[in-house]
Amino acid sequence: MLIDTHCHLEWNSYDADRDAVVRRAEQNDVRRLLTIGTNLPDARKTLAIVQTYPNVYGAFGIHPHDSQTADAAVYAELKAMAGRPKIVAYGEIGLDFFKNYSPREAQLAAFAAQVRLARELDLPIIIHDREAHEATLAILRAEGGSYRGVFHCFAGDEKMAEEVLALGFHLSFTGSITYENKSKAHRIIREMPFERLMLETDSPFLTPVPHRRERNEPAYVRLVADQVAAIRQEPVDEVIRQTTLNAYQLFKFENQGRRPEIAYEYKGALYLNLTSRCTNRCSFCAKFPAFTLDGHYLALERREEPTVAEVLDAIREPAKYPEIVFCGFGEPTLRWNDLIQIAKALKSRGARRIRLNTNGHADLINKRAVAPEMKGAIDAVSVSLNAPDAAAYRELCRPAFGERTFSAVVEFIRRAKQFVPEVVASVVEVPGLNVAAARRLAEESLGVPLRVR
Ligand code: SF4
Repeated sequence: MLIDTHCHLEWNSYDADRDAVVRRAEQNDVRRLLTIGTNLPDARKTLAIVQTYPNVYGAFGIHPHDSQTADAAVYAELKAMAGRPKIVAYGEIGLDFFKNYSPREAQLAAFAAQVRLARELDLPIIIHDREAHEATLAILRAEGGSYRGVFHCFAGDEKMAEEVLALGFHLSFTGSITYENKSKAHRIIREMPFERLMLETDSPFLTPVPHRRERNEPAYVRLVADQVAAIRQEPVDEVIRQTTLNAYQLFKFENQGRRPEIAYEYKGALYLNLTSRCTNRCSFCAKFPAFTLDGHYLALERREEPTVAEVLDAIREPAKYPEIVFCGFGEPTLRWNDLIQIAKALKSRGARRIRLNTNGHADLINKRAVAPEMKGAIDAVSVSLNAPDAAAYRELCRPAFGERTFSAVVEFIRRAKQFVPEVVASVVEVPGLNVAAARRLAEESLGVPLRVR
């Protein structure tokens, strides 16, 4: 499933065949489209479009080209419309010192005013910056704090990318990365954190090769994904999965307005959701694409991760459940100290059995052997062994700690057995996995049962 995080379906050139354009996107597995209205009349059109097409979501703001049309009445109407369903971001806003269709003073004033408005609305900001890098950064710095948002069609250099990422923004790239002489953009794509990268078409503009002379459309975002895959030397499926996840985390789409659940009931047990971060990128991870499990919405941004007190508050009667499980859609041992504190508090409040579901990276994450700390707090550990050897593990799980990870997982299982009454290893049955070899490792070498999921 792909997402085109920036297109302009409002554009008149789609008036004759907008239905077909959206349909072609769906046929090409582009399941979410974010269409951007760039002035007040287009913003009204955005509202109509997102109501017409289930998979299309919207954003709007006054584009730098239209800055001179912005006044208090315009902002008031945009503000009112931003609360409507399926409006998931504010923008694109920013500066365009290349075309200068609006005077620079008007652009600067409109940009600063709209950064404040987007923050007031608590929406991610979509930034347009063309030949105005320093002035754009100056306004963002002056407004202060960190941001949720994206620099669309990022065109700065490595130093600017570093600062923009440090401010909290994502970077997104268009079909222009398929053109010649784009080595700077390619270097940034290659080096930047994968979890901050997004794909867009900017349709109807910037059509990727080999359609360059045609009108662009969201279906072509797949060509942008192909190019990113070639640049980063990653399988294209992995580029699609990661960029889709990134877009979901930023814009939320159908999950907009939903609060992630901290404690949720599942199959009779109570599950605790401490983080959505993980030190693996497993090809089979269940959090893709929409961060929901059995109707429970679990995507936690870092700033939303619950405190120990919030977790304990969310569990009214721990003794009521046959089992309480640290699980969620991330790796709970990234919050090791909190996890142990919560487990001990739950035990003192009568929790019957506490299980930890983990990828087994806890020692690497916490830079010490943590198994002894589980004694008396954790009753069962289920470790995702996932593979029979380091090579298969690296291929399936793409661990952040690299080569040494698999042996650390094996060692974690060995140590956990000394301090936890019940330790289980697990694998997910995926094509090509040698389950028999994983079973031999778990049962014969490590002395723990293997659960095949
Ligand atoms: S370890 Fe678990 S949460 Fe992390 S990527 Fe793999 S399956 Fe997903």
